[in-house]
Amino acid sequence: MARNENIQRTYIMLKPDAYKRKLMGEIIGRIEKKGFKITAMKMMTLNDKVLKEHYSHIADQPFFPEIEDFMTSAPVVGMIVEGSDVITGMRRLMGPTHWTEAQPGTIRGDYSCIIGENLIHGSDSIDGAEEEIERFFGKNA
Ligand code: UDP
Ligand code: MG
Repeated sequence: MARNENIQRTYIMLKPDAYKRKLMGEIIGRIEKKGFKITAMKMMTLNDKVLKEHYSHIADQPFFPEIEDFMTSAPVVGMIVEGSDVITGMRRLMGPTHWTEAQPGTIRGDYSCIIGENLIHGSDSIDGAEEEIERFFGKNA
């Protein structure tokens, strides 16, 4: 391990489009090849309650009902991913929210052209990551 490493963990979730489009393996492979460590993984189907908690920051947006329908339409895969600066690192690997801004080479840039169906979620802060890990993997994760 190099010095000056800032080891963090983050919550990553492959969205229903990853499942439907059979891109789960491709996306998981990119995370592994980058060198980040997947320390927990589970497939689940979300319900409206957990989704409202997870997406409380967009729950009052006009597009939320569509997101809700989409996110409950097929299984998701939740993961805990660890590594140096992994919160920012995973967001870089994912690319920005809007596919129009996501560069080729990023997951969203390569595979998404619908804003609501952008394949992958990643926590955006240390506190957010811990909250999301607890939400989906429990207090002792
Ligand atoms: N979203 C959308 N339209 C918007 C903003 C967000 O459909 O104008 C969806 C999009 O799928 C995004 C999710 O809501 O991934 C959560 O939004 P957030 O701002 O947290 O983006 P992220 O952290 O996923 O990049
Ligand atoms: Mg977000």
